[in-house]
Amino acid sequence: MLPLEALKHYFGYEAFRPGQADIITASLNQQDVLAILPTGGGKSICFQLPALLKTGITLVVSPLIALMLDQVVALQKNGIAATFLNSTLSAAEARGRIAAIMAGEVKLLYVAPERLVSDSFTALLETIHQTVGISSIVVDEAHCVSEWGHDFRPDYRQLSRLRERFPTIPVIALTATATHRVRTDITEQLSLKKPFVHVASFNRPNLYYEVIEKSRGKVSLSELTGYIKETEGSGIIYCMSRKQVEKLASELNENGISALPYHAGLSNETRTDHQTRFIRDDVQIMVATVAFGMGINKPDVRFVIHYDLPQTIEGYYQESGRAGRDGEPARCTLFFSPGDIKQADWFIQNKVHPETNEPLEDEQRIARQQLRQIAAYADSTLCRRTTLLGYFGEVFGGNCGQCDNCRFPKPKQDWTIEAQKFLSCVARTNERFGIRHIVDILRGSTQDKVIKYGHDKLSTFGIGLDKSIKEWQHLARSLVQQNLVNESDDGYGILTLNTLSWAVLRGQHQVWVSMPNQLSKEKVTVEKEPNLGPIHTGLFQSLRTLRKELADDQGIAPYLIFTETSLKEMARYRPCSLASFSRITGVGDKKLEVYGSTFVNRIFSYCKTHGLSEAMPHFIPREAVPEKKAAGERTRNVCKLFQNGLYPQDIAKSLEMKVQRVYEHLADGIEAGQIASIEKLVSSERQTTMLKAFDKHGADRLKPIYEELNEQFSYEELRVVRALWKVKSK
Ligand code: ADP
Ligand code: ZN
Repeated sequence: MLPLEALKHYFGYEAFRPGQADIITASLNQQDVLAILPTGGGKSICFQLPALLKTGITLVVSPLIALMLDQVVALQKNGIAATFLNSTLSAAEARGRIAAIMAGEVKLLYVAPERLVSDSFTALLETIHQTVGISSIVVDEAHCVSEWGHDFRPDYRQLSRLRERFPTIPVIALTATATHRVRTDITEQLSLKKPFVHVASFNRPNLYYEVIEKSRGKVSLSELTGYIKETEGSGIIYCMSRKQVEKLASELNENGISALPYHAGLSNETRTDHQTRFIRDDVQIMVATVAFGMGINKPDVRFVIHYDLPQTIEGYYQESGRAGRDGEPARCTLFFSPGDIKQADWFIQNKVHPETNEPLEDEQRIARQQLRQIAAYADSTLCRRTTLLGYFGEVFGGNCGQCDNCRFPKPKQDWTIEAQKFLSCVARTNERFGIRHIVDILRGSTQDKVIKYGHDKLSTFGIGLDKSIKEWQHLARSLVQQNLVNESDDGYGILTLNTLSWAVLRGQHQVWVSMPNQLSKEKVTVEKEPNLGPIHTGLFQSLRTLRKELADDQGIAPYLIFTETSLKEMARYRPCSLASFSRITGVGDKKLEVYGSTFVNRIFSYCKTHGLSEAMPHFIPREAVPEKKAAGERTRNVCKLFQNGLYPQDIAKSLEMKVQRVYEHLADGIEAGQIASIEKLVSSERQTTMLKAFDKHGADRLKPIYEELNEQFSYEELRVVRALWKVKSK
């Protein structure tokens, strides 16, 4: 089966998301892969699809039992043989699963890292590899191998031993971590060999970013309940302290909004229970500390609120990123008041060594810089996306149209002269100081540090008295954000000049600064789906209820049956036959079989009561852009050239691919019925010999056949003949 066909057959999707096709092709080519995609980017398909298309079993290393369970159930719902082995299983259960694996009945095996490296388990893997063959080793949440990441797990370090033991099995590492340091670390720790690297953009176009100023330093309860009612759907509210979490959760409940608390002070059972109730839509809101998050696969979180200032921009990006994994519109709101900075600063000051009580200066310094950055984000008048993505080194053009600053721009002023004063002061102090010191000089401060360096003798000393310290700081932040000056990220925040700074100094570049403190009080709402009119909303609700009933019967999360995206499409196009229903996103063959008639009946009767009819378009437009070179297309090209009389070597040259690849495409083409005869490649005698061997050994692995035939037949020949054998034995 071709990847694209498998995508529809198993997962019900019509097209690949950006990057998926290339990653899958690399994996099918036995290459190591490092895939970096943002949350919601669709990482799972990148290894699940190759697992289904390759012979043998794929091993998936995943850090959390909850995550593992979720993925295994989701796969099983799509009719895919997946299972897991971990400490929660009884010995009998584990034995049963191992037997199924050995019988070749399992395509994906999930395991926790701690288990993987034990001697007995490696021995088991050895046997599995010899019996059914391990086609790939997948390391999910691969950033856990890095101490620089936010979720370092010592067990992940042991994975390199696995690599040593099975050096020929390709590895696929996946993560949503955006920092370079972690990426390099992953490649080194897992000894990836010339990996195919895919780094996606970290932009999440469906998220709306906004910062709302707390009135008098507080978020009022009525404001919050208003927000929740207006936004609808599941949401997460992050608070700094456990106390605040508890308080807010009970206040929301008192006001008729169902919410549960989640923090490290609750027992394990309570936490798991609350998480499950959230995931199953039994409760609308999770009020939590940052302890809540990793392993939350819930795709339909419609908003993430930060009640307090997050500690870092990266943290904010990850936490807010838990909204809208399904690609539907979602809202990320940060409540902010300048007082939050003081409070955070106080916490940083109290970072001391637990035994000696000495201040932890390095940690404090870095934490302060991180605080300045997140505070600058909160205070900024620039496009929020530009700031967030800029933090990860990604240049975004601004004007996203999906953040408060782009929708409600603040007035701007020309501050070119001030910027020149500031930058020339940076130059005169030899680019060795941070914002605070430069502002001190401009404002003519007689602080010790200014005197010590003789900076009171500079021509820029005291030339900035016409502006307040706050205004200068605002300008400085704005210069950094607009990339008009560089700031080091080692915690010292040293300013250095770049090409643009010099352009400003030479008068070749004007500097516009947006004015803060006039925060717009206008109400913002996430754009509602324009096509989802009132009647369809009724159908949508009815389908949601149906989904919830089915999920409760089976004790699983509703999104494992159908995602919100699928329900919305059903409500919009109202498919009244199984044939139409099968065209809805997320309806693969298995789900069509299991749920098709139930949902079609519900839609049909709803339509009847409301005088509606089916509204399926000729084709459903997809938001996903099909990859330019979808794997299927390449196969077709190869086959066409072959049919035109070209030999594999010629095809390889003309399409710039390896000869082995050409044979693989030809094999795919044979299976897809695009090539009838391979006489030109393999004589009929040779074909007969190989076909007999496949009759005897089956088609799962080529190696035994290669050996049985005394290495007289190349793998390329075996591959195309195997395809022929498969077609014949269907
Ligand atoms: P990640 O692990 O990168 O956060 P997931 O693999 O959970 O992302 O995918 C996010 C959502 O996108 C899921 O609901 C998934 O089913 C959906 N998805 C993934 N690939 C596609 C695709 N090609 N077309 C449509 N939906 C997709
Ligand atoms: Zn914007």
